[in-house]
Amino acid sequence: MKKTTTKPPFIPTMYCNLFGHDYKVSKKVTYHVKEYTCSHCKKQLTTNSNGNLIELTPKFKEINAILERIHSKRIERSKENLVTSSIY
Ligand SMILES: [Zn+2]
Repeated sequence: MKKTTTKPPFIPTMYCNLFGHDYKVSKKVTYHVKEYTCSHCKKQLTTNSNGNLIELTPKFKEINAILERIHSKRIERSKENLVTSSIY
């Protein structure tokens, strides 16, 4: 009998199952909504409207992209307001 000494490949998800995911903020969508990516298995999470962390599905990516656009527009507008209000 031949003995096989192939080591099982190191699966990042296995590490995560044992030690838990190591999420890092990968994108700030708004003040409250952020996207997180696990540094080991690259699993992505996002904050939903209730403030809970959920899996970042393509649908939520789309929603976040819209949120981000609205958010950046709001920031631009608030900057304009700041400039005009500082004149007076
Ligand atoms: Zn992970």
